[in-house]
Amino acid sequence: MSIQKAFIFISILTNIVIISGCGATITTPTLPPIPPLILTEPPVGGDWTIPELKLTAPLVFLLPGEPGMCGTHFKDSHKAIDYFSGKAKTEIKASAPGRIVKRNSVCNSQQVLNDKIGSCALGANITVEYTCDLIDQETRKRLGCDKGQSIFIRYSHLESGSEISAPDDLEAGDTIGLVGSTGKSTGPHTHVEVKIGTSGSYYSFANLSKNPINPELVFPKMCTGYID
Ligand SMILES: [Zn+2]
Repeated sequence: MSIQKAFIFISILTNIVIISGCGATITTPTLPPIPPLILTEPPVGGDWTIPELKLTAPLVFLLPGEPGMCGTHFKDSHKAIDYFSGKAKTEIKASAPGRIVKRNSVCNSQQVLNDKIGSCALGANITVEYTCDLIDQETRKRLGCDKGQSIFIRYSHLESGSEISAPDDLEAGDTIGLVGSTGKSTGPHTHVEVKIGTSGSYYSFANLSKNPINPELVFPKMCTGYID
C-alpha cells in the first residue's frame, strides 16, 4: 500500500478529517452526545388491563398492550423468549390464578460464573404452575396439556428480592416479581420458559417435560421483532 493510500485508509479508520498542506489543520468530528441512562420507576397503580386475546395469557406486564422488541426467536440454543417490554423494576403480573411452586434467589458471583444454564445463571427466578384450562382446546391438544397436566412457567432475571414477595397462591392481577437483570444478563429483561408437567408434582424445572414449549404458543404476541 502506498503511503498516500495508507494515509487515506487511516483517515477513514480514525474518522479524522485532515487537511494537509502548509500549516496543516486537524479537526476531529463532533461526536453526538451519549443519551443519559434513564431508569424509570414502575408506574404506581398503573392502568392494567388484560389485552383481548385468543388465549388467556398467564404473563402480562404492567405495561400491557405495548409489544416490543424481544431477544432471540425460540430456538435450540435458547428455548425461551426474552421479553424486553418493561423497564427495570416493572411489575410482572399474573393475568390468571396460579401457584408459585419454586422461588430461587440470586447466587453469589462465583456460582453465577460457574453456572452455564442452571438456576444461578437465571438470577432471581420464580416458577408458577397454571392450569391447562387457560389455553384453548386446540393448543392444549397440540401441547399435550391434558387432564392431570399443568403449564409451568419460569420467569427469570428478576430484580433481587422481588422473588419472595408474591403470595404462593396467585390471583389474577397479583405481582409475580419485578423486571431485573440478575444472573447472566446484560440488561433488564424477563427470560420466560414454558413446560408441561404433571399437576402438583413439581420438584425441579428440569424434571418437567423434556422439551420447553415456545412461550409464544401460549402468550399473546408481545414481540414486535427480535434482535437476532
Ligand atoms: Zn434468555
